[in-house]
Amino acid sequence: MEMYTFKTQDEAAKFAYQMVETGVKEGQIRTLGLATGGTPLSLYKCMRESGLDVSNVSTVNLDEYVGLRDEDEHSYHYYMQKELFSHLNFKVSYLPDGMAADLDAECRRYDRILEENPVDLQVLGIGKNGHIGFNEPGTSFQSETHIVTLTASTRKANMRFFEREEDVPEQAISMGILSIMNAKKIMLLVFGKGKAEALRKMAKGPVDEACPASVLQNHPNVVVIADEDAASLLKDQGQK
Ligand code: PGA
Repeated sequence: MEMYTFKTQDEAAKFAYQMVETGVKEGQIRTLGLATGGTPLSLYKCMRESGLDVSNVSTVNLDEYVGLRDEDEHSYHYYMQKELFSHLNFKVSYLPDGMAADLDAECRRYDRILEENPVDLQVLGIGKNGHIGFNEPGTSFQSETHIVTLTASTRKANMRFFEREEDVPEQAISMGILSIMNAKKIMLLVFGKGKAEALRKMAKGPVDEACPASVLQNHPNVVVIADEDAASLLKDQGQK
């Protein structure tokens, strides 16, 4: 696991962007795995401003809430459209359909999409409880795309994007942990003091389903890009 720590999130995002740009320009990134939430916003800003030609790049997103229409401003379809897709010319972009009548069939459909579009670089965040995607503690490391019931702590963390707690959906469709681990390379972005303990457990704790992100210790090609606050509980931070 390579670890890069920066003073600020903006510096970290620029470094992350350079890695994406190089991969796209050199043709190593044909499928880019994308995440939502607060963490990737600074990277997406760099991508928007770059005008990078991504016409040869397909994208697959980690997850989507169940029960929100694409046009709902809280859906991840809407988020991705606003932050990235309306600005850059990606070849094709896939997200799970949280409005599908048959959610199990939708999970299998998404697994087929992932099989046909193996992820070259997966952009990933981490939850305070160690979740990756919407894979909460206790999720099997063998999981593929599945329906998730969000934990109280995740709904609370995501409440900031909604008006009322009861508006936060209770379920989501998420790539599984095995699906995430299938990416050739994973870029884990971690910012802020609130994520320091999750980052420590991910990197130094036991590899255990109680901390889903700890599975990344078993992946051969993970780059962690963090700010100093997030890395504050790691002693041997590779300073950059
Ligand atoms: P955040 O979420 O970027 O909104 O903090 C990250 C995550 O839960 O994976």
